[in-house]
Amino acid sequence: MTKRLLFVILSLCSFAACASGFDENEQRMIEWIDAHSEDAIALLEETVNISSGTMNHEGIRKVADVMRRELDALGLDTEWIEQPPELQRAGHLFGRKTTGTGNRFVLIGHLDTVFEAEDAFSAFVRDGDWATGPGVDDMKGGNVVIVYALRALQEAGLLDDIPVVVAYTGDEEKAGRPLAISRKHLIEAGQWADIGLGFESAIHADGSDWGTIARRSSSNWVLTVAGKRAHSSDVFSDRVGAGAIFEAARILNSFYEDVRGERELTFNAGTIQGGTDVQYDTQQNRGSTFGKTNVVAQTAIVHGGIRAISPEQLERAKTRMREIVAANLPQTSASIEFDEGYPPMAPTDGNRALLRALSEVNVDLGRGPMKELDPLKRGAADISFVAPYTDALAGMGPLGKGGHTPEESIDLTSLPLAIKRAAILIYRLSGARQPGD
Ligand SMILES: [Zn+2]
Repeated sequence: MTKRLLFVILSLCSFAACASGFDENEQRMIEWIDAHSEDAIALLEETVNISSGTMNHEGIRKVADVMRRELDALGLDTEWIEQPPELQRAGHLFGRKTTGTGNRFVLIGHLDTVFEAEDAFSAFVRDGDWATGPGVDDMKGGNVVIVYALRALQEAGLLDDIPVVVAYTGDEEKAGRPLAISRKHLIEAGQWADIGLGFESAIHADGSDWGTIARRSSSNWVLTVAGKRAHSSDVFSDRVGAGAIFEAARILNSFYEDVRGERELTFNAGTIQGGTDVQYDTQQNRGSTFGKTNVVAQTAIVHGGIRAISPEQLERAKTRMREIVAANLPQTSASIEFDEGYPPMAPTDGNRALLRALSEVNVDLGRGPMKELDPLKRGAADISFVAPYTDALAGMGPLGKGGHTPEESIDLTSLPLAIKRAAILIYRLSGARQPGD
């Protein structure tokens, strides 16, 4: 957390203003948002009616054109960021405003959905306070919240002093690889910003609102083991040793015995191949094996995944796994490779401070305090790429359900709620609100 941000948060709470409702600016933003909630719904409808599955690059560009129109109107410098052809991804839309002296924000949404062009689920359908449609919840609703929160700040004359980058990625549902390229601009925005906010759907459960201050990393590993191919009558002899399959079994059992245990650390062995002649394709998750019962196994390949709550926890686990892999049985050798994966968003003090500030906004809005969501309940997301550099909070979008299914829907009354939360939170954290106001 930056010193300035710490000061802003402490000031918010060291005065009566901490839990005593809205100042004049906030009041004005609330009125403006209430008066424009149908406009926000219209923008949602417009973008949901453009099919934009991750591989539908033309559709994604069309959604980007609509959002670009909105960001241009806000006075942001917009840029369509093309991806190299080999990544086979559409690109990203970024809008930037780097002037202003307040805390710097990066606001994260995405243009793609999981519904490709041929999907029958393709239209925005409104039914009273609810609407269904592809991406209505994940996360074209959140994209709209970003635009309308910034518009409310602008209408109240507060945007000028707030440096902000809006990052709409075009491949959140199936990120282009390598991530070092597809997430380059997002990482740079994180390095620039003080605060990162993710606008996927909010969570309301068991009678209260929940904030997302942490998510686990997600990456894969491949264990490759070599043994000495020989007649099995000599197995375990000094000359032949244990073979690749016994060595793979030793390694996996040691992972189970010695690495397992921390609640927020999980790892899984997903597939295993072993024998004389082994092929395995990590992209297709498919392989083939030939071997004989009387031949000591020459090769074994295990493909697995690992999730952790912090970079430290992930490194600790990897180090221990590498040590286990290196302690080979006779006449065998083994190596383990970890892919780049999604980094963890660790539950830092800075993230907790952001949630406290959001919780105060939520109390002021009459919805009560917000609690910390268990990170095991949410998967990896784009916010994780900025979280190593900023204080970060996710789940700033509206309330929805059925994401990734043909029942995907959104509670339209939660759209103005999410816009108010975001606008007021950004205002309070920017330092624009005077302590005691
Ligand atoms: Zn999704």
